[in-house]
Amino acid sequence: MRILIVEDEKNLASALVKLLEGQKYAAEAVYDGQTGLDYARSGQYDALILDVMLPGLSGFQIASALREEGLDVPILMLTARDKVADKVRGLDSGADDYLTKPFTTEELLARVRALLRRQGAVQMDAVTFGDITLSLATSILSRQDKQVRLSRKEQEVMHILMSLPPGYIISKDDLIMKVWGADSEAVDNNVEAYISFLRKKLLYLNSAVQIVVQRRLGYLLEYAAC
Ligand code: CA
Repeated sequence: MRILIVEDEKNLASALVKLLEGQKYAAEAVYDGQTGLDYARSGQYDALILDVMLPGLSGFQIASALREEGLDVPILMLTARDKVADKVRGLDSGADDYLTKPFTTEELLARVRALLRRQGAVQMDAVTFGDITLSLATSILSRQDKQVRLSRKEQEVMHILMSLPPGYIISKDDLIMKVWGADSEAVDNNVEAYISFLRKKLLYLNSAVQIVVQRRLGYLLEYAAC
């Protein structure tokens, strides 16, 4: 886990580096806004700790610039001013959390852990197979710039198929059990209907992923890139 600290009070910056390194994070500090933005743009960091009042660019400006450029690295903003307006401005500019100076080291570490956990959760939010990606948050199945929304059951079926270990085939009964539950009235035809909806959507995406039926065994995904 790499953390970038942008803080012009050098004593505080080096104390933060030591503190984070003591927790096995890789941490580095820069001392002005423009350098902070340049470093953060490299995309090499798992989290940023941004002071608000900095020479060059402010923490607000750095956060907005990163968000405008589509970088979603988690940001913890350090503000010296305990004013609601600053907190709101910090969050509006794209920070995920803020901490008012002075703060305790325990509190800072707890906020950093929370940020990194959230980041982990975001990354787990999508599954990829072959040329397609399924976002579990939005139920959108996409291939390059084409996308299609799945219904809840379609998403569940697709998620299971995309998560199968390589070479593994899931039986129709297992699929019914996982998606519709043990005491549901779902019958084979129901599964077949959903498989057929999903095939149409894969076709619409021009995907090279196919849902394959193995007689008596069940279903699997195959990816045949040309
Ligand atoms: Ca400062």
